[in-house]
Amino acid sequence: MPEATVETRASEATHSGSTQQVDVAVVGAGFAGLYILHRLRKAGFSAVVLEEAGDVGGTWYWNRYPGARCDIQTIDYSYTFDPELDKAWTWSEKYATQPEILRYLGFVADRYDLRRDIRFGTKVKQATWDDASERWLITTDNGANVSCRHYIMATGCLSSPKPPEIDGVKDFKGEVYFTGRWPHEGVNLKGKRVAVIGTGSSGIQSIPLIASEAAQLTVFQRTPNFALPAGNGPQPEDRRTFFETDRAAYREQARWSLAGVPYPQQTVVSWQLSDAERRERFEKAWAAGDLVHILTQLWADQGVDVDGNAILCDLIREKIGEVVKDPETLAALTPQDHPFGSKRPCLDTNYYATYNRPNVTLVNLRQEPIKEITAGGISTDKRSFDVDVIVFATGFDAMTGAILAVHPITGRGGKSLSSVWAHGPQSYLGLTVAGFPNLFMITGPGSPSVLSNMAVSIEQHADWVVDRLIALRDAGFTSMEATETAQAGWAQHMADCSMLTLHRLANTWYTGANVPGKAQGVMPYTGGVGPYRSICNEVVGRGMLGFHLKGPGGAEQCNDGEIVRLQPDVRLVLGMLAEMNLPPIETMGAAGARDFLNEFNKGRPAGRPVGEVGEGMLQGADGPLPYKLYRPATPGPHPIVVYFHGGGWVLGDHESDDPFCRDMCRRTGMIFVSVNYRHAPEHRFPAAPEDGYAATRWISEHAADLGGRPGPVLVAGWSAGANVAAVTCQLARDRGGPQIAGQLLLSPVTDCIFDRPSYVENATGYFLTRGLMYWFWDIYCSPADRTDPRASPIRGKLEGLPPAFVTTAEFDPLRDEGIAYAEALAKAGVPVEQLKARGHFHSSFVMVDVVITGVPGRIKMAEALRRFAGLPAQMDTVRRAPPPEVNAAAS
Ligand code: NAP
Repeated sequence: MPEATVETRASEATHSGSTQQVDVAVVGAGFAGLYILHRLRKAGFSAVVLEEAGDVGGTWYWNRYPGARCDIQTIDYSYTFDPELDKAWTWSEKYATQPEILRYLGFVADRYDLRRDIRFGTKVKQATWDDASERWLITTDNGANVSCRHYIMATGCLSSPKPPEIDGVKDFKGEVYFTGRWPHEGVNLKGKRVAVIGTGSSGIQSIPLIASEAAQLTVFQRTPNFALPAGNGPQPEDRRTFFETDRAAYREQARWSLAGVPYPQQTVVSWQLSDAERRERFEKAWAAGDLVHILTQLWADQGVDVDGNAILCDLIREKIGEVVKDPETLAALTPQDHPFGSKRPCLDTNYYATYNRPNVTLVNLRQEPIKEITAGGISTDKRSFDVDVIVFATGFDAMTGAILAVHPITGRGGKSLSSVWAHGPQSYLGLTVAGFPNLFMITGPGSPSVLSNMAVSIEQHADWVVDRLIALRDAGFTSMEATETAQAGWAQHMADCSMLTLHRLANTWYTGANVPGKAQGVMPYTGGVGPYRSICNEVVGRGMLGFHLKGPGGAEQCNDGEIVRLQPDVRLVLGMLAEMNLPPIETMGAAGARDFLNEFNKGRPAGRPVGEVGEGMLQGADGPLPYKLYRPATPGPHPIVVYFHGGGWVLGDHESDDPFCRDMCRRTGMIFVSVNYRHAPEHRFPAAPEDGYAATRWISEHAADLGGRPGPVLVAGWSAGANVAAVTCQLARDRGGPQIAGQLLLSPVTDCIFDRPSYVENATGYFLTRGLMYWFWDIYCSPADRTDPRASPIRGKLEGLPPAFVTTAEFDPLRDEGIAYAEALAKAGVPVEQLKARGHFHSSFVMVDVVITGVPGRIKMAEALRRFAGLPAQMDTVRRAPPPEVNAAAS
């Protein structure tokens, strides 16, 4: 049966006295409210939507300023829940205008007969939870109050305009307009002197059209924004063809994508591309006129790394420079203070060219701030501008403004939401708040919302919420509430995710920085639409993890916990590995496992350039060993770090940790020499540590030949390589040198027992498994030899060893033996620093440019190595790529 005909029955609300009784009350009749109402009715709930405006549309009802359009392609900015609806509406343009979008929402309201359950012109004044009846009581400014079991805020993220915050607005004798509350009848600007304050998306869309109508336009700009030409017109052929070929696949790809638009994940990083290749990609993106394309499809590091982003910023600045003629105006319009994408970039039509018009003036508020608004116009601290009209395009109290506009929302125990959020919004999944049972937010703070295609996110939220209400009803529960544990876990996960992006580097409404006095922090979920969807599904799959459910007669269920404890990128990596469904490495045999590792490493991002990379042979314990040398681009001679790769004494070689060595060479400003010690099963214990020791001695003796600083060397290693590094320090102490200035042990193997808690807790599921460790040990070392300190360094004498930095990962079987070694070193009087990496797994820090959250850890490791070498902890050479790398033989 077509979806539209299911809904002919309006929901059955009842009245008791002056109170309307419904199962669910929804605030807002925009994209979200309309769809929720449809879903609620379909599920048999009685519902009412309370809407302040006179009709449906939400943000598209209010934002009627000249030039208002969507800036996600309209093909994507549409409902997808009903394929028939999808076919019944065809957009006329790539980016539809506000009137067309409003018509679409009206069409949807009619098609599903939604208006019957919407109370227009009705503002919510208060909302109070009553624990006894387990219902919300909503008071309104128009008509009956509402009593409901569930209360859903579909209030939008950008619907509460920010007050002007400029002295004297009331004194102004001319006309004042806000882009976010534009008069329905339109505004005649012909022949008038107009001021626009603000150059965000609303300003940038409206300025060209206002300029073409007004006699004189003066734009007051505080922060220049990045804008790219929309290239509006018909729907681009490539997207339309993809869409028309398989609509269901197109929509499904969008649902699991990062931004809610079906683009693939970009894996190529900027330094893998030549200048010409980068320019070609950029020109294509510029011509495409698509924010999601330029934000996600150029190179993988553009959104996560300042260097990768800076390349793009330079290219955009070049484009702006090609258009704007006046050098002073150009300088003012060129964004310099934030990475591209950290502040919401804009799509424009003739924006920059507008400043070449004789009737347009740009006032740079960074140089001459607004002092006041007077009866006749606007004064800066340098000049006065007489105007007839002031347009405030100054934005919104975003994400929390519309929710907190209803005050108070009083939850359990009389707590108000504004007090709970006094230091920033707290939520679980961005959908619910602890202490506020049966209250739901659609695209609330803590959800992908404004960093995504809202249409896709809204449907996901609405489906999740309504599905939960159905499940609650079916199970006989009457309330659900997030637990404090789950909410705190989500805050941690949000913070971890925000470290992945560059949003924290800009003053933006994403962080609350645009509203004076507002608590600051990245408010939207930055982990992406697809990952967010899978997390929401996982909450359900794990028995409503983090929710307290209650029902009549004392029925209760609470499966408490945190839904994501892994770092977000670690979660993605482990998810991808799980999807590959690989056979356990220990079943591959040594040769098979080596082939697998080689193939696996081919798929990783290439390491970053360093000053010079060379290869050579050195003398091991029983013959020559190959090595690879990474030299920094800075002038030498540099201290030398002898590096031992991971691989369980069986796998890997001097090249297998190449990205890590490059990264650490750049971060430390030291030479890294990665040594290919001998491996089992061909060469069992003690070949590896004896080679490690011999190699360190050889490198120390040949430091000057290698271009290094003579004197003590340092050692470093990961996993089994850290075991070799630790043992090398013990052997060097006992065998009369070489001198070692410090040791970096990254997830080291230090002992031959397998019953520490981390071996049990992390036995499987985190790539390095307990089974694999058994296999490594069996191949490497006979049981009788395992207690030898050269195999299990924790069993050796620890006094007199060089200072150590020991890194362990929370989700690693080796975690506890690494911690135990660090503690034992400290007990023996060795200076030790520990990094216990929360949410990380065994390979986190060596997966350079994949596990981005590993960066702060590597910075700490690099600082420790520099201190050990007697250098200042910090160096300033990582942010910019060094000159192209030279390949040279190092010996
Ligand atoms: P906005 O991005 O917050 O921009 C507000 C502008 O006003 C900024 O340039 C800001 O400068 C300036 N401003 C604020 N207070 C000021 C003051 N007291 N004095 C001087 N300047 C001041 O707001 P918006 O343009 O309305 O856009 C908000 C969001 O809505 C967009 O980012 C976008 O997500 C959405 N939107 C979308 C579309 C679309 O095409 N679909 C259109 C419009 C809006 P600072 O940067 O220095 O704070």
